[in-house]
Amino acid sequence: MASEGPLESRGTTSSVQPVLTRLTRSIHHLSPLRPVAATGAVNALPRKTGHDERRLHIQLWLAATVWTLLVASILLWTQRSVDSEMLGLARQEAIANVNKDQAFRVWATTHGGIYVPISERTSPSPYLSHIPERDLVTPSGRRLTLMNPAYMLRQMMDDYNELYGVKGRITSLNPLNPDNAPDDWEREALTAFAKGEKERFEVAKIDGHAFLRLMRPMPTQEGCLKCHFHQGHKVGDIPGGVGVSVPLSGYLAAGAKRKQNLWVGLSMVWGVGIGGIWLGGKRGKQRILERREYEERIWHQANFDALTGLSNRNLFMDRLDRALAYAYRQEHQLALLFIDLDRFKDVNDTLGHVIGDRLLQEAGRRLKACVREMDTVSRLGGDEFTVILPDIVEGISTTLVAGNILATLSHPFELDGQEVHLSASIGITIFPQDGKDPGMLLQNADTAMYRAKAEGRNIYRYFTWEMNKAAEGRLSLESALRRALKREEFELHYQPILNVSGGSLVGAEALIRWDSPERGMVGPDEFIPLAEECGLIPPLGEWVLQRAAADLAKWDQAGLTLNSLSVNVSTLQFRMKGFTDKMLALLQSQIHLRSRLFLEITESVFMDEQGEPGKRLDRLREQGIRVAIDDFGTGYSSLSYLKRFPVDSIKIDRSFVCDVTDDPENAALCEAIIAMAHHLGIKVVAEGVETVQQWQFLRDGGCDFAQGYLFGRPMPFDAFPVFLKQHLPIVLQNHASIAPIRPANT
Ligand code: C2E
Ligand code: MG
Ligand code: MG
Repeated sequence: MASEGPLESRGTTSSVQPVLTRLTRSIHHLSPLRPVAATGAVNALPRKTGHDERRLHIQLWLAATVWTLLVASILLWTQRSVDSEMLGLARQEAIANVNKDQAFRVWATTHGGIYVPISERTSPSPYLSHIPERDLVTPSGRRLTLMNPAYMLRQMMDDYNELYGVKGRITSLNPLNPDNAPDDWEREALTAFAKGEKERFEVAKIDGHAFLRLMRPMPTQEGCLKCHFHQGHKVGDIPGGVGVSVPLSGYLAAGAKRKQNLWVGLSMVWGVGIGGIWLGGKRGKQRILERREYEERIWHQANFDALTGLSNRNLFMDRLDRALAYAYRQEHQLALLFIDLDRFKDVNDTLGHVIGDRLLQEAGRRLKACVREMDTVSRLGGDEFTVILPDIVEGISTTLVAGNILATLSHPFELDGQEVHLSASIGITIFPQDGKDPGMLLQNADTAMYRAKAEGRNIYRYFTWEMNKAAEGRLSLESALRRALKREEFELHYQPILNVSGGSLVGAEALIRWDSPERGMVGPDEFIPLAEECGLIPPLGEWVLQRAAADLAKWDQAGLTLNSLSVNVSTLQFRMKGFTDKMLALLQSQIHLRSRLFLEITESVFMDEQGEPGKRLDRLREQGIRVAIDDFGTGYSSLSYLKRFPVDSIKIDRSFVCDVTDDPENAALCEAIIAMAHHLGIKVVAEGVETVQQWQFLRDGGCDFAQGYLFGRPMPFDAFPVFLKQHLPIVLQNHASIAPIRPANT
């Protein structure tokens, strides 16, 4: 048996991971020739929110500014529209007035002026004195005087001004009355009219009030010449213009009201827009925070172990990379500790995964407590942890840390009221002497850890290059094993099992051998654990069953009838999905196996209650397959499983049998096992019987069957019948004095 012990050498081994598989895995993470350099990109922390927030702020400010400018432009534009609309209205009013004035003037001019009674306002015009009939007396004696249209209009304009505030003016570049002389603006307009312009207007202040002034040309008509003939005017000349000044106060007030409404309306629209931008900003900020949280979560998931919160393999590789780059620059030494918990799988199997998980969490906490803040503790998976000590002094601190870790982990763990004891094995590599790149260091630390396990666990081992050779040996063994399976280099040897009291043959155990062209005959202890680790056990186990069934059929045909044939089944194989169905199918196709096939399983099968071993065993036994517990007594579980799980026989491990005659404790143990098994109705087989004294002891102790070199070594298929016929009777005869001999069953 390998120094790993039966449980770990046959289990699914998270504790004794296939070293080479792991090495390959770790190598995959790294390029072999990569120089020591940081590869932080993958592990870079998600960007801080500050950057995104600043960008969002700028965007919000930009949006608010654009929005404000837009609303302000609309406001300005609409205000100007209102102003021009109001001006337009005032202009219309002015035009209406001018038109009316013109109509009055034209009418009066057409009729040669009008006669009005002489009064203070209508005294005879001195400018019309050249007209003979300027003044008339009516038959009733009333005195009338001729009033020219312009004068009449001016008076009307004055009245209109008084009544409605609209001022009117008739002016000319060459007025008869100096009072009607044009001001600057009017002069300019009159000059323009002379050149053909039809209208002029402006907004002006008159007596401190705003007015719209409008002026149009006043062409000379036939009737005008009556008064203005002497000034040299001709019909069609533009000697003057009619102007109207409309007060703007009413329009300005209406415009101001509309502008105010607009202002209020647009302010509200602006407010809604700004509110929308603010809300959008708030949402955006929320989204930034959510995205940041999400990115951090993803980053955390990608870089940290969910169970223990320690950095995971990904982050570990990155940290190691960085630490190596630093150590390389500073010419420091760096230590890498590869820690694997011992027999953790047993804890998981016996106490359940929940307790197993809590144990890992607590172990992670303890590991962290053993190192400095600057050191990195990681969980690579399963029960494997690593510690990077980035700056060490000549290995002294490493030894201290490793010793401290072992001591800390050996304190009992209190989990759900249960006290669990644990230990660990540690492999240590030092940069630069044990490797210069992360892959090499990890690989070598793993190799050293494996050596620590092999040398008894609960210890640490520094890596040496000699260890590497052993690991390489395992690697080449694995590939040779794969080849062997393809080339069918395996064979089965058979060892007889006898009835202890009568000495008759009851069956045989099939034991695999590897007849390697390069290595010679290789025993199962050398390759079965490796086959389990690298996933070769299912095809190998299948081959063994098929070959054993075929061999038994051949012996049946040859007339050698064995009562039973025992086949070893790895725990891994037993636990595999579909194993029971496969066995039942085999039984269906190979009827001769019924009630003769013994499956030898080990106690570790019962440690995984989740796989419901009891149900599997029941189904197998219902169909006539019998079950033996191999290497009984070397397992770690309680004996209570014997009561709960149905088995037909137990095989006392060779380690108890070998010194039963010398060691009273082993003798007592054997006797106790036999008594207990018989009490439960289970048969007992003693393994490894080598001496007549052992045989005698077992016979006296009531053991049912025995197997060992005393009766016959495992032998090839062809040799087995010959041995039974020719040698076994002689063997038994030689010991006839000790045991009552019956001839071997041939
Ligand atoms: P095991 O099932 O307990 O088989 C008994 C082992 O004890 C055999 O070693 C046998 O050669 C050895 N043995 C028998 N009598 C004596 C004796 O008197 N003295 C000593 N010193 N040894 C004795 P072997 O063939 O090397 O097998 C070792 C183990 O390999 C087996 O232990 C079994 O656990 C495993 N194994 C063998 N064949 C198979 C197989 O086909 N499948 C699986 N899964 N495991 C197998
Ligand atoms: Mg066996
Ligand atoms: Mg055994």
